[in-house]
Amino acid sequence: METKKRIYVGLLIASLFSAVMIIGIVWYLITQRDIILSQIILILIVSIAGIIFILLSIGILAIIIMIIRSRTIPSLENMTQLANDILFPLTLLTGRLVGIEKNSILRSYIAVNNYLVKAKKLILKGEQVMILLPHCLQNSECPHKITVDVNNCKECGKCKIGDLKKLCREHGAVLKVATGGTLARKFVQENRPRGVIAVACERDLSSGIYEMGSLPVMGVLNCRPHGPCNNTDVDLLAIEKALQMMCKGG
Ligand code: SF4
Repeated sequence: METKKRIYVGLLIASLFSAVMIIGIVWYLITQRDIILSQIILILIVSIAGIIFILLSIGILAIIIMIIRSRTIPSLENMTQLANDILFPLTLLTGRLVGIEKNSILRSYIAVNNYLVKAKKLILKGEQVMILLPHCLQNSECPHKITVDVNNCKECGKCKIGDLKKLCREHGAVLKVATGGTLARKFVQENRPRGVIAVACERDLSSGIYEMGSLPVMGVLNCRPHGPCNNTDVDLLAIEKALQMMCKGG
């Protein structure tokens, strides 16, 4: 397993064991009290925690097996989703405690997510795929309102929006430019794509992937030669590869 993926999977496991330690402390405190009600609460807490622990363990194990096999396990996809949903915020906390830079963890999370999406071997039609771009990809001096309709772009070549428009036209994919998470969610709700290729920075991409839940989202990081949120750039080849992967089953 590469380092990028190891960070995230390692933190998933560390988060799980942190949760177990907290449960152990609760157990210790309750067993110090000699009341029947406390014992009933204790049994309840331990039973619920035990079930959650088993489910999360299966989820993490499934993620590791899927990465090693490069193939998804359809019957365990819900478990992997559950493990990700519950433990992702904990991985950030654990990472901070052990001094790992937040963006490294987010990049690792995005890499694991992309690998799991690839392992699904999706075969979608072009029109079932939405390419979701951040507004900062547009040249800051461009007067055209592309968030309202990307067809307002005149393909002048001053930014990558025109090239991406051509790419989507060739593949029949849906192209949208969003100013933030709210507009991005609106586009997804309106168009109901079966797969999304999202371009953004580490923070927006990871929160977007997290929020989309079971909808497969391939994340492509943007480049920020002029600093964050201003005239950003993206590797066209990476988007084309992601599009081909979603349409040709990897
Ligand atoms: S390529 Fe489109 S969005 Fe970019 S500057 Fe030209 S007209 Fe504006």
